[in-house]
Amino acid sequence: MTQSSKPTVIAVLNQKGGVGKTTTVVNLAAVLSAAGKRTLAIDLDPQAHLTIHMGADAEAAPSGAYAVLVAGRPLAEAMIQSRENLWLLGSGIDLVGAETELVSEVGRETILRNALDAVRDRLDFVLIDCPPSLGLLTLNALVCAEEVLIPIQPHFLALQGFGRLLQTILLVNQRINPALHVKAILMCMYDSRTSLSVEVKTDIEKFLSSARDSQSPWSGAQIIPVHIRRNIKLAEAPSYGKTIFEYEPSCHGAADYLAAARFLYPDLPLQTDSTSADNPRQCPPPSSDEEIKIAGQD
Ligand code: ADP
Ligand code: MG
Repeated sequence: MTQSSKPTVIAVLNQKGGVGKTTTVVNLAAVLSAAGKRTLAIDLDPQAHLTIHMGADAEAAPSGAYAVLVAGRPLAEAMIQSRENLWLLGSGIDLVGAETELVSEVGRETILRNALDAVRDRLDFVLIDCPPSLGLLTLNALVCAEEVLIPIQPHFLALQGFGRLLQTILLVNQRINPALHVKAILMCMYDSRTSLSVEVKTDIEKFLSSARDSQSPWSGAQIIPVHIRRNIKLAEAPSYGKTIFEYEPSCHGAADYLAAARFLYPDLPLQTDSTSADNPRQCPPPSSDEEIKIAGQD
């Protein structure tokens, strides 16, 4: 069962909550769609933060993701256009029941992949915002994804559960989806002034370099050298239903997400809108740790 390489499907996953998954999905999707890449963002978290952050209705009944996974609604009907080149498969509280409702369904972990098959031709990228658990919804994401992007917030116990996360990816890779691999780790809410941030990053670097020659699905993974700094504008944007590029395109958060996207997809001409190439003020250069130390938090 080989998957078509189109579109690139990225599961943004960490079973911890509050590490930056949703913020990452919204803003990477914004960069990719602004570059003309037809992008679908899928909200698989019943908390519907992605749906709300993109300014859509999380009360719609039934939610898009529930309708596709449980009621068999075609993805083409359930996804809604959110911006130019950007679609959303929304979530809602009804998704809470999906795991139990699907428990006796044959092939329950491949529902999303099968649903995606009908719209593959129309899309270049799919970004999946996974729930903070390793249950059936996350499994559906891992079965249809090719790349896993793991946001990590470098605080105390940041790596607790990391082994289980990798083990889950390994099992899916070995049993169902050989294309699945960890593309990268993204440090979110990073503060290079704290030794803890640096320690967590060093621990991950050591772990990844020890896996370089292994057959594991994370042997090619790297920590994205652009860290997403703690930035108040990133925390404010969701309540306005806006991406950071719509809310405050000149802030650190916008610059960091654009730089991270450029690192991930260096072959794409990524910018956040048609004017940004001519207006360097809108897209400050990628952050270095040195700059963070000088600039601090804003
Ligand atoms: P998750 O989806 O993993 O639960 P979120 O992306 O929702 O995490 O982020 C958790 C909270 O932190 C949200 O309120 C979000 O707005 C905020 N946040 C995310 N990234 C940053 C950042 N770099 N700086 C400041 N706040 C952030
Ligand atoms: Mg979230």
